[in-house]
Amino acid sequence: MGAGQDIHQASEMTERFEPPADFAGSAHVPSFEVYKQLHQRSLDDPEGFWREITDDFVWFKPWTQLQEWKPPFVKWFVDGETNISVNCLDRHVDAGRGNRVAYYWEGEPGDTRTVTYADLLADVQRFANGLKAQGLECGDRVIIYMPMVPELPVAMLACARLGLVHSVVFGGFSADAIRDRVNDAGARAVITADGSWRRGRVIPLKATVDSALAENASPTVETVVVLKRCENAVDWNDDRDVWWDKAIDGQSDVCPPVHLPAEHPLYILYTSGTTGKPKGVVHATAGYMVYTAYTSRMVFDLKEDDIYWCTADIGWVTGHSYVVYGILANGASSVMYEGAPNHPAEDRFWEIIEKYKVTVFYTAPTAIRTFVRWGDHHPDGHDLSSLRLLGTVGEPINPDAWLWYHRVIGGGNCPIVDTWWQTETGGILITPLPGATALKPGSATLPFPGVEPEVVSEDGQPVEDGERGLLIVRRPWPSMIRGIYQDGWGQSGHVGEFGDRERFVDTYWEKFPGQYLTGDGAVRDADGYFWVIGRVDDTLSVAGHRIGTAEVESALVSHSSVAESAVVGAPDPITGEFIAAFVTLKAGIDGDDALEAELTAHVGETLGRFARPKMLKFTDALPKTRSGKIMRRLLRDIAAGREVVGDTTTLEDLSVLASLRGDDD
Ligand code: ATP
Ligand code: MG
Repeated sequence: MGAGQDIHQASEMTERFEPPADFAGSAHVPSFEVYKQLHQRSLDDPEGFWREITDDFVWFKPWTQLQEWKPPFVKWFVDGETNISVNCLDRHVDAGRGNRVAYYWEGEPGDTRTVTYADLLADVQRFANGLKAQGLECGDRVIIYMPMVPELPVAMLACARLGLVHSVVFGGFSADAIRDRVNDAGARAVITADGSWRRGRVIPLKATVDSALAENASPTVETVVVLKRCENAVDWNDDRDVWWDKAIDGQSDVCPPVHLPAEHPLYILYTSGTTGKPKGVVHATAGYMVYTAYTSRMVFDLKEDDIYWCTADIGWVTGHSYVVYGILANGASSVMYEGAPNHPAEDRFWEIIEKYKVTVFYTAPTAIRTFVRWGDHHPDGHDLSSLRLLGTVGEPINPDAWLWYHRVIGGGNCPIVDTWWQTETGGILITPLPGATALKPGSATLPFPGVEPEVVSEDGQPVEDGERGLLIVRRPWPSMIRGIYQDGWGQSGHVGEFGDRERFVDTYWEKFPGQYLTGDGAVRDADGYFWVIGRVDDTLSVAGHRIGTAEVESALVSHSSVAESAVVGAPDPITGEFIAAFVTLKAGIDGDDALEAELTAHVGETLGRFARPKMLKFTDALPKTRSGKIMRRLLRDIAAGREVVGDTTTLEDLSVLASLRGDDD
């Protein structure tokens, strides 16, 4: 029996949280039995299962063929025709729900806007006509580099209405990162803004686009559309630049949607770059639409009177699926916030929840750990009693952060949906359903209907319950990645006929043909619950013991002085690998030798002596991607005393690297 097994048996002994009876009573999936039946049916009768769900959508041509699966290439709703903007907007307005609020928008400086579905539909059509007037055509790529303002979903939906393929680049990225993405996508247009607000300062988005495109570095770009957000002065190129207001001036607010084949590419989105050079993940229209809409409804238990808030930036897949497409497809009302969580003060999020009476709140473990560090008095100072459901995504959540979230934010009575998924999966694959699933802190629990995950060994055989292995998905699901973008769409623009086939196959399909390799390591426990323990690259092997970095990190964070930690392995001549830990401390606590010894001992007590870090370094900050994930690959280089190599364009703050290497001390 390996050491890892002991650890997961320990985690099974943690408390279980049953769905509160009143929550379950009115939930879309009200019991575990109902979930089990739903999941079973989705696997036994996929055709009937998806037919019932897709009947609610608008199809210009209904599908007759559910799927074409020629591994690793898949098509869903194969011969159907639709348009996602119609399903997100027209469908609700036509049903007399145009006055419903789509977004309660809150700007960082405190300005607000309320955008109804009717407003959004008119704005999208007007802007789509404006894009058409710029000469853009179905299949063209458009880079969107914008602040979190309502015009961002307007731009995305306008592209979707015309069959333009958008690629949203998070507004914190540098000129280099934009240039890489513009050129990789061969974009004909860029949509941006004069600036965006961040911690009271203006981030000059247009100026960054200018430097990305300088000296004809991106010759495919003919047009740059610029929204005025901050009254920030900008340089102007008359041949290329057009103000948003000018682009829509005189345009009609009626723009017929293009009837798109189900497999028409909806967007390209580059992955976070946590493990290497970002991949241009391509998603297709109909499968993505159906799956994100259905998961939104079931996982967040969306109802007529919910006010939903997902704090993710739209620049990440979470924002695409669960701020924009999946949520709008349900006609739900969301909060959208432009700025930083600590501006003007560290209680901004709790103030927003109180103000809009948010009922469903979805955020990331990295944010939760930050809130823990900032102190309970911030949430305690606000009325959060409107909340009924919480969610997390992005990284494994350590049980201590989970328990804090449950108690301090959820008041002890909100279920937490720990949702496991990836840019490539398009939507949530492993998750609790809040009215049905008993929760175990730190586990993403069970597969969503239609999803068949498995934990396997290197040779593809299922491992025993409680043993760690590779997380794979046995069959395709509707919002699965269709390819990695590269140089045009090929003959028909259809699956398998475009993109970097080699990288697509190597990354996801080579190891186990026909089965999707997630790249994550996981354990399934005796109840069938999945515990994702991080990337396979992040599994350590210390003196013959296999252990996930997340487990050592959880042990460190369970110490009262520790705010956050990152753990990596470095080569060791004797033990194979040694454990190196980088630790940030809670406010007011100083790291010294005594604390180092105490933390090392604490890990030993929690996990076993073998798991004690041999190197433990206190630091003010950890290197993170701009989506807030720890970039362990950089720390591995530092721990091993190597030069830091590889792509760092997605790193949030380069100076963190210098200080970790000790360049400044
Ligand atoms: P790249 O693929 O470029 O290295 P990335 O994997 O960080 O970057 P994303 O697609 O944004 O890019 O993140 C998906 C990954 O995030 C998953 O593979 C998993 O490692 C992690 N993850 C997401 N949600 C969860 C969760 N609920 N529990 C555990 N891990 C999660
Ligand atoms: Mg990834």
